[in-house]
Amino acid sequence: QARMKRGLPKRLPIAGVTNTILIASGKGGVGKSTVAVNLALATASSGKTVGLLDADVYGPSIPIMMNLEGQPRIDKRYMSMGFLTDMSQPVVWRGLMVMSAIQKLLREVAWGPLDYLFIDMPPGTGDAQLSITQNIDVTGVVIVTTPQKVALVDARKGAVMFSKVGVPVLGIIENMGAIKCTKCGSMTSVFGSGGAGTLEKELGVPVLGTIPLDPKIQESCDTGKPVVVSEPSSDQAIRIYYFVHCC
Ligand code: ADP
Repeated sequence: QARMKRGLPKRLPIAGVTNTILIASGKGGVGKSTVAVNLALATASSGKTVGLLDADVYGPSIPIMMNLEGQPRIDKRYMSMGFLTDMSQPVVWRGLMVMSAIQKLLREVAWGPLDYLFIDMPPGTGDAQLSITQNIDVTGVVIVTTPQKVALVDARKGAVMFSKVGVPVLGIIENMGAIKCTKCGSMTSVFGSGGAGTLEKELGVPVLGTIPLDPKIQESCDTGKPVVVSEPSSDQAIRIYYFVHCC
């Protein structure tokens, strides 16, 4: 009601969906889609019904990460712009077209009944983010960042934007933490360390955990076998199962 008084549209839930969780990042390339895919699969393996929407309209990567192609099927709970466009061609669209496509993906796909719908957001704080947060009754957002200063600065902006539009920030996942040397076992923090902890103190948003930089994760993404499925007992998969219980 307060929103309607201020002339803002009423936020409606997606039909048949109990929880809608956004996976967002300030920058591209920090592992947002990787986290979205693995969180969705880990949640599904804990017995929940789960859907996954790739709303990263300009750079959809879920079809590759899930090893999917062709037209979406009605019995599957994944949707991506990558199914509707030629993945080898760039999407050259203005903001209004992006917003309209996202509305269709949210409202015209038979999502329900679902316990959780994970939405892999485009990076940044633009039209798509506003379109989703202003129209959908969102449960909360998980922000993915690397420990690097440039990524953290943008992650902070993202967290502030979501709070301003009334979307609870469930936590931060720090991805691409230290890498372990396969020869001597020593750890190297390629993108620095501790940055998410600073955000936690500053914004009062919990760090749900850190995922190391690990070539196996990259490989599992490129071969369409997300790590929680291909190596469910690996340290990385266990960390992601832990996030599921935190969120
Ligand atoms: P975003 O969605 O933020 O653009 P992606 O999830 O597409 O980022 O990840 C970018 C690239 O980094 C992908 O090639 C992915 O396989 C790789 N990647 C993501 N997280 C890790 C990690 N922890 N270790 C190694 N590679 C990773």
